[in-house]
Amino acid sequence: MMQNNSKYDIIIVGLGPVGLLACNTLGKRGYKVLGIDRFENAYNFPRAIHLDDEILRILQSVGLSDTMYSRLKPSWGLELLDTNGRVMFRGNNKFPGGYEASNFMFLQPELEEILRGGISRYPNVNVLYGVEITDFAQNKDTVTVFSKDGKVAEARYLIASDGANSFFRNKLGIGQTDLKFKHSALKIDAYELKDNAEAFHAVQKICSGSKPYVRMQGAGAHRRWELNYNSGLSKQELEKPENIKSLLAEIGVEVENLDIAHAVYYYFQSKLAKEWRRDSIFLAGDAAHVTPPYVGQGMCSGFRDIMNLTWKLDAVMQKKMPASILDTYQSERYPHTKMQILKAIAVGFFFVRQGRHLLKFISHIPILNKFLLNVVLPFDTNGKGIWGKGKASRYLFPQARTQKNEFSDDFYQNDWAMVAVGRTIDSEALHLCQKVNLKTFVFDDTNANIGDVKNWAKKHKASYFIIRPDLYVYASGNNPKELCQEFASKIN
Ligand SMILES: Cc1cc2nc3c(=O)[nH]c(=O)nc-3n(C[C@H](O)[C@H](O)[C@H](O)COP(=O)(O)OP(=O)(O)OC[C@H]3O[C@@H](n4cnc5c(N)ncnc54)[C@H](O)[C@@H]3O)c2cc1C
Repeated sequence: MMQNNSKYDIIIVGLGPVGLLACNTLGKRGYKVLGIDRFENAYNFPRAIHLDDEILRILQSVGLSDTMYSRLKPSWGLELLDTNGRVMFRGNNKFPGGYEASNFMFLQPELEEILRGGISRYPNVNVLYGVEITDFAQNKDTVTVFSKDGKVAEARYLIASDGANSFFRNKLGIGQTDLKFKHSALKIDAYELKDNAEAFHAVQKICSGSKPYVRMQGAGAHRRWELNYNSGLSKQELEKPENIKSLLAEIGVEVENLDIAHAVYYYFQSKLAKEWRRDSIFLAGDAAHVTPPYVGQGMCSGFRDIMNLTWKLDAVMQKKMPASILDTYQSERYPHTKMQILKAIAVGFFFVRQGRHLLKFISHIPILNKFLLNVVLPFDTNGKGIWGKGKASRYLFPQARTQKNEFSDDFYQNDWAMVAVGRTIDSEALHLCQKVNLKTFVFDDTNANIGDVKNWAKKHKASYFIIRPDLYVYASGNNPKELCQEFASKIN
């Protein structure tokens, strides 16, 4: 272990999934990183259960998707049901991400273990578990952190991924914008003891006036229910599995073959920090935003934060781009995250608030019913920041598999690239790309899901795309030379 009091490039306080990911992304880029968490062991309570294919691609970018993949279960989106079990709404996000599904179920403690294991690949990343940061100081280009025993270390930058009650956010006096959706729920985790024919593959929300609840078939034998009504049981009463089984039996669950893991009350809020950066300190993950879990995007948003922030820190530390780009971390990520929270609130409106009457009514109108059962959830764009021209700019770029079953991201990940879809890159454009340090990749008809990628490109009226290191489209168009020139004048 490196000595305390060393100077690091980046300190990461809070090693939940978001901080652990940051250790991996920055470790891979070769930075001298110190990760700190107040607890010795990974938090063993499953919280997040859903992730989408963008998150899998992020894990892919740090070489951990293969390990994670065997722990995932594909899931087919979100359904809202009435109390008779009739599906009123079915929504999915269909995106050519290169994987067999766009949504997956997982166990957060398993992911955290994999991310912890991933860090050990990087001798440049040091971790201190069991150390609580109780104070910090920052001057022009150094942040110093302290525990109750004194100075721990200093660094050029610090990422505060210290969770919803963020010590850093509070000490910096950064307020939160409250989107004012609050709700409590009783989360019950259990494991099937016997193989059970799986009845559904979606996350199902049962919209009931008196007993709204969510049921989820997690990965492997994991099952989850979230009761969004007052169960009437105290915390002590919930320690007895038989009490939990009675609650589940009341909503029609067959409980004989269930091993109850635990039941915990949660209080969900919807808030965004007003500032995500104060000088050299950046808030990320739950420290920057909290959401009700109705669209399973809390941790996912935190992963996107890290993808967005770390390539910018890298570009600034390599002196490839000016330090002012670090302000675009908030301007790009805030609107995207806000949209995810608003979606969760919208689902909550139909699920636990009065909206269920409206949904029930319109779902009986045949033409609307058809629409409601085939909703493709829209993709969100990033806010103002480092973007060029073109309709695809600000959107996540798709992924394809090559004939040899290799993932296209792996050809250019974590770097800027020019990608052609269904067209070639001529030698003049190739030369230009090389000159401005753009990697190149051509999606052609040998790629497995080329049809979907071509459709996506057609929708965005372009065949050429400049991709940023976080896999979002910087600029799109039909003239690669023009795109290169724009890139050269603004970025390179
Ligand atoms: C019931 C439930 C269901 C959910 N479902 C989903 C889902 O399906 N999909 C999804 O994407 N998200 C979901 N989420 C949200 C997800 O769990 C969180 O967004 C995620 O855990 C946040 O990760 P984080 O790393 O930002 O923070 P945390 O996981 O809270 O980690 C913060 C870390 O900081 C450490 N820390 C705090 N202060 C200090 C300090 N002063 N010094 C040192 N260490 C410190 C803590 O010990 C902790 O390890 C769900 C949440 C809940 C509660």
